Amino acid sequence: DELSNKIAAGEVVERPSSVVKELIENSIDAGSSWIKIELDEAGLRLIRVTDDGEGMTAEDTEKAFFRHATSKIQNEQQLFRVKTLGFRGEALASIASVSHLTIRTSTGDQSGTEMRIHGGEIIEKQKHTKRRGTEITVENLFYNTPARLKYLKTVHTEIGHIMDLVNRMALAHDEIRFECHHNGKRIFFSPGNKKLLQVIQQIYGKNVAQQMLSLEEESLDYTIRGYVAKPEVTRSNRSYMTLIVNGRYIKNYTINKAILEGYHTLLPIGRFPVVVLKIDMDPYLIDVNVHPAKTEVRFSKEKELFDVVKQAVYNLMHAQRL
Ligand code: ADP
Ligand code: MG
Repeated sequence: DELSNKIAAGEVVERPSSVVKELIENSIDAGSSWIKIELDEAGLRLIRVTDDGEGMTAEDTEKAFFRHATSKIQNEQQLFRVKTLGFRGEALASIASVSHLTIRTSTGDQSGTEMRIHGGEIIEKQKHTKRRGTEITVENLFYNTPARLKYLKTVHTEIGHIMDLVNRMALAHDEIRFECHHNGKRIFFSPGNKKLLQVIQQIYGKNVAQQMLSLEEESLDYTIRGYVAKPEVTRSNRSYMTLIVNGRYIKNYTINKAILEGYHTLLPIGRFPVVVLKIDMDPYLIDVNVHPAKTEVRFSKEKELFDVVKQAVYNLMHAQRL
């Protein structure tokens, strides 16, 4: 019902960037090769995410806005083997309950659907001609939750959060072409040609990209790939360390620590590297159902993972120094 949607919204939708995150994750799960993000006033006025993914049928479109409506897991067993970014089935219902939302979607093989939802209530549904894919527009976010609206910071702060997120999504999915526009101006673009170093260059600049070392490591449980900056390239905080596990951007203290320890004495105290690390493992080894935002995860073999990452970074740094 509406109340529980609003309560869930409090957990899932903290600020405009949370909406952008959930919409992008859905587009990725839909198998998109292109994702466009349009924003007005850092998303406070408008957020629109368009993709070329599988789309939804008219029937599924309505279902998608019920809480716990997910097409992604069917039983409890699958909850322990999550392969998609979403699985809780509460993002769309939550977002729709605190905004004016319009969805246009089509599977490509029948006529598309357009639906408008205001504060969680469907106010209009009609056929629509749209190519395969989905376009979701979120306007007037938090219009009916004034306390949340008041807590939001300036356009400057909110666009910072969104850009950070879009950057990480583009790093996590170099096979997808991302475009981001703010107030009509294109502010980010990634080519979607599976060249991670090009995305790194797009975000951090040519100088940083030229100082990145390629890391590849394979152990029994983990495949690790990515780029790790030479110790010459350091930053004053950890926010330049991006961890991607099974395609999901996550935050994890243990892996960050393993990376830093891998540099051993090469990293000045209080300095942090630029790192983009992609770790793939059996979904059974991770628990992503820790928090609704899904950026925190738990690893069942944390110590082993720590050792593998630390050793891989250590070896790379030492090979370079020889
Ligand atoms: P979850 O992602 O956890 O399943 P959401 O509330 O984010 O839950 O989305 C509900 C459902 O709507 C998804 O399971 C999916 O079937 C459908 N959906 C949402 N966004 C898209 C999209 N961009 N393309 C295709 N289907 C989508
Ligand atoms: Mg989702």
